[in-house]
Amino acid sequence: MDRTFRQRLEDRIRQAIISRHRHSGVVLFSDTTLRDGEQMPGATLEPHEKLQIALALERAGVHSLDAGFPASSEADVEAIRLMVGRVRGPVLTALCRTVRSDVDAADRALEGNPVHKRGVSLFCGTSPLHRTYKLGKSRTEILKLIAETVGYAAERFRIVAFSPEDASRTELDFLCECYREAIRSGATTIGFPDTVGLLTPEKARDFIRRIQDGVPEIERALLAVHFHNDLGLAVANTLACIAEGANVVQCTVNGIGERAGNASLEEVVMALTLHQDQYGRTHRVDTRMLAPLCRLTAELTGIVLPLMKPVGGANIFATEAGIHQDGLLKNPDTYLPFRPELVGGDEIRLVLGRHSGRRAVAHRLQGLGIPHHDASVSRIVERLKLLPKGTVVDDALLQQIAAEVH
Ligand code: MN
Repeated sequence: MDRTFRQRLEDRIRQAIISRHRHSGVVLFSDTTLRDGEQMPGATLEPHEKLQIALALERAGVHSLDAGFPASSEADVEAIRLMVGRVRGPVLTALCRTVRSDVDAADRALEGNPVHKRGVSLFCGTSPLHRTYKLGKSRTEILKLIAETVGYAAERFRIVAFSPEDASRTELDFLCECYREAIRSGATTIGFPDTVGLLTPEKARDFIRRIQDGVPEIERALLAVHFHNDLGLAVANTLACIAEGANVVQCTVNGIGERAGNASLEEVVMALTLHQDQYGRTHRVDTRMLAPLCRLTAELTGIVLPLMKPVGGANIFATEAGIHQDGLLKNPDTYLPFRPELVGGDEIRLVLGRHSGRRAVAHRLQGLGIPHHDASVSRIVERLKLLPKGTVVDDALLQQIAAEVH
């Protein structure tokens, strides 16, 4: 085959894949726990720990993994080398600056992975702040840089993403020019990162709409979004962009990441799962893998899950309030948005304490095989109300109180 024929063939393959994804109605999850998540102070992962999380993400069914930044560290190269050949489901992508040697480093790190499972993700600051203070480059110089390096990457990878860093603070006309240049040069995905996490859902959605209007080449690429949580809106912003047609959402497990973190994978997945009617989109993540994935990530990164963390937190299926406990015993759905088994979580826990009522106390006594009657249950409930602040009523303490009131 001569080179131009091979290129045309390769181009048709890329376009067929993109077109299939664009029209499938499926939201693709791209996980960046191992890259943006690991950038979080204190969250360093050893290469073998990254492999463990990558395999858990594979079991969960994520579409692609932002596996690391080969040019930035040998440890990242080592982690990616461990994943090649072992993590087979998701596409593995490596982060690169718009520098040829970064693309070469990614090429070496991903050597041996099949062409349809390896990619690069190039980024370059485009906002006035980044152009002036970080790069010292004009708009024209940046467009040239994008064309040159994206073109270089496209000769070596079938999957090439380009993200204008600090996109949410970049002038819209220039942002669209950057995307157009990237797609013309061979980018198969264009990313929209809200690098400093300052957008609201309405503004995020507006950006996506305007990008789709301002980039006629958009049909030839997938649109990915990447939100940070500085205003606590990363998940809301991600969902708003899904509503507007974003194809790929980039998230991290437990929302770990730079500063206030990233959009949390498990939260976006669950919102999409429970509201498919609203979004008209599906996903391929196995929700039953989520809670174990959250715990594994907390354990290996050392970033403890807050008790109240949606999906993975220890309190998500626990309650101490009497009215809720009574409802949950009659039918768990009375006070839950979803059952624990849907996310692979622990069973519902009725915590006994000052706020507990008769039903939960009787239920626990029954479970422990302690004989009881209406009057003794009432006396126990009264005793619980007098307990010092923060007392945990475990089985031993309940047995003791039951013996005393009897
Ligand atoms: Mn980021």
